[in-house]
Amino acid sequence: MKKENLLHWIELSESALSKNLRSLATFAGKRMMAVSVKANAYGHGLNEIVNMLNRNKRIDYVTVHSLDEAMEARQAGWKRQIMVLGPIPTSQLREVLTRNLEPTIFELNILRTLGRLTSKYKKHVRTHLKLETGTNRQGLAEEELSKFAKVYKTYPYLRKPYGASTHFANIEDTTNHEYAEYQLQNFNRLVKKLETLKIKPEIRHTASSAAAILFDETRFEMVRPGISVYGHWPSKETFLSHQQLGGKISHFQPVLAWKTRITQLKNIKADEFIGYGCTYRTTKPTKLAILPVGYYDGYSRSLSNTAYVLIRGRRAPVRGRICMNLMMVDVTDIKGVKIFEEVTLIGHSKGDAVTAEQLAGWSGTINYEVLARISPKIPRVIVK
Ligand SMILES: *Cc1c(COP(=O)(O)O)cnc(C)c1O
Repeated sequence: MKKENLLHWIELSESALSKNLRSLATFAGKRMMAVSVKANAYGHGLNEIVNMLNRNKRIDYVTVHSLDEAMEARQAGWKRQIMVLGPIPTSQLREVLTRNLEPTIFELNILRTLGRLTSKYKKHVRTHLKLETGTNRQGLAEEELSKFAKVYKTYPYLRKPYGASTHFANIEDTTNHEYAEYQLQNFNRLVKKLETLKIKPEIRHTASSAAAILFDETRFEMVRPGISVYGHWPSKETFLSHQQLGGKISHFQPVLAWKTRITQLKNIKADEFIGYGCTYRTTKPTKLAILPVGYYDGYSRSLSNTAYVLIRGRRAPVRGRICMNLMMVDVTDIKGVKIFEEVTLIGHSKGDAVTAEQLAGWSGTINYEVLARISPKIPRVIVK
């Protein structure tokens, strides 16, 4: 649909996406790249992002959390590799074979069931063994490796893990990377153990965006960036560390802009209340614009009386509480505002911008959550 006919939409910039991927390729070199499209491609829209990634031959893999997301990626026409990071129900493991997926392995029964299926259907499956190195999330401990090795060797179509992986606990939140170094040492030790157990993986991968950007030793044979592909730094600390290390990237370019239109304009008097709970009271005659966006759409209620939106590059502060489907902004000082005029919730407008990072700061969370919570139901429009 054309944006002229929409009241609420997400714009996705294909050129920004390509540019970010080129920046990341400077770190990846000849290594494989696996782009994370979990959480509806970080709220951007899995279908649209997969379509754009499909046009970029440099990307070898997409990674998803769930089987559902893997199916969605296949439906969107993705024929290259898919790694599933999260758990898959035993009853649906058959899909791994039919859809040619690569599951992450951290559970022995799942590996056994998968093994039986590969024997039954005489089909090889690539698996990625998730190693516990100190995040204490998914992952298997050193003591368990020999049990897993046994199962691998029982089933000839499994044979050994294709990949060995881990995930860092404390790489974005700090400029002190001792814990990441500790985890990396653990990872290297566990991989050696896999070798002695005769199930040496073909590839190793540990690097999310922050690790891939900052530390060569984490890149191994493949990197797994997510947030940076979409044009966002994992954190301020990652940006600072990158600069301290003499890095050359000054910015990633956000792929997503969030837009709506003014659907009602009204003049209200001084001393009037605005919205639920009467949390805002005007001190002067005020021109108010009503926008058809609310917390249902992912615009957090914690932005009530706090955030601003942009109209023709001017800031319009949010007044009162964010409602389920609506919100109100003050446009008193923006001359000549018209009904159905375009409003920017995230993105650039003339000389100004509202960023996912700002919304995250205002609502006490991180850019990842602001983006991931944007409703999948909002129409997506791809722009050059
Ligand atoms: C989400 C995720 C990534 C990507 O992380 P970013 O910080 O978005 O780059 C990489 N690896 C795993 C296991 C993940 O869950």
